[in-house]
Amino acid sequence: MNIVIVGGSKEETSTLQTLAEASSVKMLCLAEDIGDKEFIELAKSLDIPVVQNLKSLLERTDIDIIIDLSGREDVAREITENKLPRTEVIDRSIANLICQLLDSESRATYDLIDKLTREHWSLYEIGINLSSAKDLSEVSKTIVQHATQLTNTPAGSLAVYDEKSGTMYFAAMLGFSPDMAAQHSWKLRPGGLTSYILNQNGPVIISDIKKHPGFDSPRLLKEGVRALIACPLFLDNKVVGIIYIDDFKVREFDSRDTSILCLFSTYAAIAIEKAKLLDEAKMLAITDDLTKLYNHRHFNQQLGAEMIRAKRYKESLSLILLDIDHFKQYNDVNGHVKGNEVLKQLSDVLQRECRTSDIIARYGGEEFTVICPKADKIEAYQIANRLREKIQAHDFPYAHTQPLARVTISAGVATYPEDADEPLDLIEKADAGLYLAKRRGRNRVCAYPGLKSNAG
Ligand code: GH3
Ligand code: MG
Ligand code: MG
Repeated sequence: MNIVIVGGSKEETSTLQTLAEASSVKMLCLAEDIGDKEFIELAKSLDIPVVQNLKSLLERTDIDIIIDLSGREDVAREITENKLPRTEVIDRSIANLICQLLDSESRATYDLIDKLTREHWSLYEIGINLSSAKDLSEVSKTIVQHATQLTNTPAGSLAVYDEKSGTMYFAAMLGFSPDMAAQHSWKLRPGGLTSYILNQNGPVIISDIKKHPGFDSPRLLKEGVRALIACPLFLDNKVVGIIYIDDFKVREFDSRDTSILCLFSTYAAIAIEKAKLLDEAKMLAITDDLTKLYNHRHFNQQLGAEMIRAKRYKESLSLILLDIDHFKQYNDVNGHVKGNEVLKQLSDVLQRECRTSDIIARYGGEEFTVICPKADKIEAYQIANRLREKIQAHDFPYAHTQPLARVTISAGVATYPEDADEPLDLIEKADAGLYLAKRRGRNRVCAYPGLKSNAG
């Protein structure tokens, strides 16, 4: 449709812009003698031709519509008298109305295109982010971040299914209080809410949890959750987990929210499985098969790293090296299999009795180490002695066959900075302490360079 504009002030620049952007409109030209300078300049910048005066404008024979923005009676009269019979004339108010309609339509189209483009890029970015996340914890955080962003929700979480234990646990959470995060694992029971979600063919959408018995758990209500989507994650028909998207107000989720979430959930499920396999492989590489403690290689790495940290923060670092007393005899009398059982149970005692910050490893055969970050020599000595007492008190199978009728250990303790400055030196000093403990009669702890030993 060929349109010309007559007149126009700076208040109407948006009208001019809207018309120029409308795909069904061809702007022919403007008359320079009527209309604001600013308005004419804008027309020129939009590549709309400008003719000198109204007379030459009206001489054109290809005009379908004349928009008269001048508001002047003399101009209106001149147009009516000189226009072609088939040419329509529209005045300022109708032109504004049309532009408003055009504007809202193009804004809606623009918004839709914008949303689709953003979603497209988000999924692309998500693919990259997920594949570069280094472990399950990072993958989980990334998943919750993206899922909440994609659906424009203030909170969300990811529950991951652990096949071995049959439990779900929250691997990541966003927008909730620490109370909620503390409730981190639960058993999957038939008939329970989680089983219900997993049995649906797609996401469960709850606009108002107060109207859905079962979903209105005190935990969620306490957090202020009102609406949610629970999107089950499967891979090869196996449960991987559930993405929860939560809002603190009643909300009708639109179909685009759920469809993008479904699409995203496929990426998420693959990323979780991949991260789990990687984590497992990494774990296998650093653990000892029999005892499930860290192996010698990982111990070396950790001791190096902890030593650097201790130096940087000017903290103490202690090392305990412990060895089972007369273990050869135990094996000779009871056999290797029973001996292995002792090693396993002893590892459990160590894990139970050490601080969470301590790093326990199987150093070799029947020797174990405990790295005690921030512990000075007296603290480490006390830890070692407590371990010795707990092991002596533990009811190991066939313990009566041992010389003291108990399974016992001897231990050596060395501490950075007073005993050694480097990892290997610290190990040697702890070993010297252990050697002393053995020489002094076993079932005791000796700290390098020979604190008073503490016999059991
Ligand atoms: P000491 O009190 O001086 O430490 O005497 P010991 O008999 O414990 O020391 P020795 O080094 O002579 O023997 C260690 C024994 O530990 C030898 C070996 O049979 C046993 N051992 C090492 N690794 C394993 C293992 O993985 N399983 C079992 N069952 N025994 C092991
Ligand atoms: Mg030994
Ligand atoms: Mg031994």
